[in-house]
Amino acid sequence: MAMQMHSQTGETCLICGQVKQTGIHICNQLICDSCQEKIVKTDVTDWKYKHYVNKLSQLRLKTMKQTEQTK
Ligand SMILES: [Zn+2]
Repeated sequence: MAMQMHSQTGETCLICGQVKQTGIHICNQLICDSCQEKIVKTDVTDWKYKHYVNKLSQLRLKTMKQTEQTK
């Protein structure tokens, strides 16, 4: 069994707040595999979907602020 070496730090998942090493990146933020799955499976009428969308919109605002600071 092959062991993959990763940095020990990992990244904090935007949705669940846990440190994960795999997932997708949106605006330099990690969304882990399990959260991606949850989002995909969540019906748009479900209150949880709004929760996820809300998290994502917060991310966009945060990222914009960070960009301003960098410049
Ligand atoms: Zn997650």
